[in-house]
Amino acid sequence: MTPLDARTRLVTLLGHPVEHSRSPLIHNTAFRAQRLNWAYVATDVRPDDLEAAVAGLRALGFAGANVTIPHKETVRRYLDEETPRARAVGAVNAIVVKQGRRGPRLVGDNTDVAGFLQPLAALGATSLVGAEMVVFGAGGAARAVVYGLLTTYRPARLTLAVRDPRRAESLAVDLARYDERGSLDVIALEEAGAAVRSSRLLVNATPLGMHPHEEGTPWEASDDFSRGQIVYDLVYNPEVTRLLREAGERGAQCLGGLEMLIEQAAAAYVQWTGRAMPTDAVREALRAA
Ligand code: NAP
Repeated sequence: MTPLDARTRLVTLLGHPVEHSRSPLIHNTAFRAQRLNWAYVATDVRPDDLEAAVAGLRALGFAGANVTIPHKETVRRYLDEETPRARAVGAVNAIVVKQGRRGPRLVGDNTDVAGFLQPLAALGATSLVGAEMVVFGAGGAARAVVYGLLTTYRPARLTLAVRDPRRAESLAVDLARYDERGSLDVIALEEAGAAVRSSRLLVNATPLGMHPHEEGTPWEASDDFSRGQIVYDLVYNPEVTRLLREAGERGAQCLGGLEMLIEQAAAAYVQWTGRAMPTDAVREALRAA
C-alpha cells in the first residue's frame, strides 16, 4: 500500500452516522489497486457543523467528498454549482472540487442516477425504451431512479407503488417536467397488481428485504413475476434478496443493488481522479467484507 505522505490527496464522506458506510472500503480498494497516493476517510458531521465541514473541504484542499444521510439535501446551499442531474433529483451525494480562476469551486453531483442506469445499460436493456415500469417507494433513491428512467427510457407508464401516496406527491410534482409523455402515476401498493404484471421493469427503492429483515419484500404476490421482466433491487445486503429470489424462480432477469453501489462510486471516482474505477477489485473487496 502507498504510504500516506505530504502529497496524499484526500476525499471524505460527510454523513451522520457514517460508521456502517462501505464507501471507504470501495474507494481505498480502488486507490490501492491503481497505486494512487490518495486516501478516503469517513467523517461524522452533525447537521449544525455541515457548513463548516464543507468550507473545510475548500480550505484543506480536499479533492472531493461523498455526502450521505442526513445531509444530501441541505448540503446544496453550501456549494458553488450543481450538475443538472443533482438539481433535478434535489440531492447531492458527491462533491467534486474543481480549480477555478478564483480558487477552488465545489460542484455537487448526484451519481446515484448514473449508478442506477449503468447496470441496466450493461444488461443491454434497450428494449426498455417506451416500456411500462413500476418503482416501489418514493424516497431519496426513488427520485434518482425515476429521473434516470424518465430521461433515458421515456416509459409509456411509470407507476410509483407506495404505502402512502400523499408522501409521493412531491416527487411526482418535482419530476413532472422530465415526464414528456405524462407517464408518471402514483398508486397505493395494494392497487399495483395489474401494473406489476404488465411491466417490463420493476425496481425496489424501499429498504424492504434488507438485512436483518431479509424476509421482507415490496411485492408478496410472487406469481405476478414472469419471464421477460427485469427485476432490480436497490438493496445490496443481502446480495440476493427475497424479491430477487422469487422473481428469478419465475424466470425474470434479476439485478441486485451491489452493482449500483459500485457504479455510483465509480461515477464519483472518475471525476475526482480522472481514472476509471477498477470495479472488479472493488466488487471482490465488497464480497469479502
Ligand atoms: P428513504 O429515502 O428512506 O425512502 C424509503 C422509501 O421506502 C420511502 O418511500 C418509504 O415510504 C418506503 N418504505 C420504507 N419502509 C416501507 C415499508 N415497510 N413498506 C412500504 N414502503 C416502505 O430511503 P432511500 O435512501 O430512498 O433508500 C431506499 C433503499 O435503497 C435502501 O434500502 C437503500 O439501502 C437502497 N439504496 C441503495 C443504493 C445502492 O447504491 N445500491 C443507493 C441508494 C439507496 P414512506 O415514505 O411511506 O416512509
